[in-house]
Amino acid sequence: MSTPSTPEPRLPKPSPSAQWRGVIREYADRLDVSEATPIVTLGEGGTPLIDATALSERTGAKVWVKFEGMNPTGSFKDRGMTMAVSKAVEHGARVVVCASTGNTSASAAAYATRAGIAAAVLVPQGKIAMGKLSQAIAHNARILQVEGNFDDCLEIAKELAERYPVHLVNSVNNDRIEGQKTAAFEVVEVLGDAPDFHLLPVGNAGNYTAYHRGYREELERGATTRLPRMFGFQAEGSAPIIRGHIVKDPDTIASAIRIGNPASWSLALAARDDSDGYFGMFSDEKILEAHRILSAETGIFVEPASAIGVAGLLERAEAGIIPKGATVVITVTGHGLKDPGWAVRQPDGSEVTPTVVPVDTDQVAHALGMAGQAARQ
Ligand SMILES: *Cc1c(COP(=O)(O)O)cnc(C)c1O
Repeated sequence: MSTPSTPEPRLPKPSPSAQWRGVIREYADRLDVSEATPIVTLGEGGTPLIDATALSERTGAKVWVKFEGMNPTGSFKDRGMTMAVSKAVEHGARVVVCASTGNTSASAAAYATRAGIAAAVLVPQGKIAMGKLSQAIAHNARILQVEGNFDDCLEIAKELAERYPVHLVNSVNNDRIEGQKTAAFEVVEVLGDAPDFHLLPVGNAGNYTAYHRGYREELERGATTRLPRMFGFQAEGSAPIIRGHIVKDPDTIASAIRIGNPASWSLALAARDDSDGYFGMFSDEKILEAHRILSAETGIFVEPASAIGVAGLLERAEAGIIPKGATVVITVTGHGLKDPGWAVRQPDGSEVTPTVVPVDTDQVAHALGMAGQAARQ
């Protein structure tokens, strides 16, 4: 009797040291950190760049999706927060403060906990998605709902940091932008060059600014041959950069980009000019349509704001601005589980409820449209 031979493993065994070490350790030589910086990390960064076949087929471009929902707290904010909290601790901070539409507070709360310091977060009353609020609560942040919008929260957070012993970790803090630029480094590592276009949502425009900075640095050190054209998108009801003026009461279902007075406005305009970039806007309906396309055709689940880059891709390709064969990276900024209600809701406002079936295999098969297809016993 012969024993079956063991098949060759298909995949190489990972070495025990193969774990990604977080953006500060991975890119220490390209960030403002030293031996004196205590590294506060949850292993952020190293997120997948996914070959989005369905979007490539729709547009004729070569489309990749940078899935930032895969960060420890479910959004790209962790890249900036590891830097901001590490530098805050280096400077002796015991409390960090931020204004937030949700994801910054979730991230600040998690990283403050990791550092053993306190986080105070200011959120607009009633305007924060449950997934994000639950994270801030779970990580023991001191949460205050301000009777105002995000822009009011940011003004108060800035004043608090000026007048009281708290350290501001919003993206007006340059450490945040510095941490976030590492996403561009990761894209270049995977593609071997910068893409032709980079598309992403814009709220405070910190991330738009950060990607541009990352790509600029890559070009200057000779790692790439080009600067991608940076295309940023805002929601129609919250589009100060496109409209050219502050929006007093920004309104959109895409809560992560419900911002009327972007903190990095002028930096973003400079980044647009430097990269032959563009800013556009979409209605909530278009955002939700892009959200459905992304979930149903690529298998990537994001919160609504994150899908706006997909709306941008489809529209810019249709307009002939993004040519066939161009390499496009879309950053999808936050995970779908942050704000899952939008997936359940249909365009007509109804909610999807799964069909109820009895405990009976044939009836389940019938409900699945497989009646009469049973294999012979
Ligand atoms: C913060 C955030 C944005 C907007 O990023 P900015 O840097 O403010 O422009 C977009 N999407 C998600 C999910 C976010 O959390």
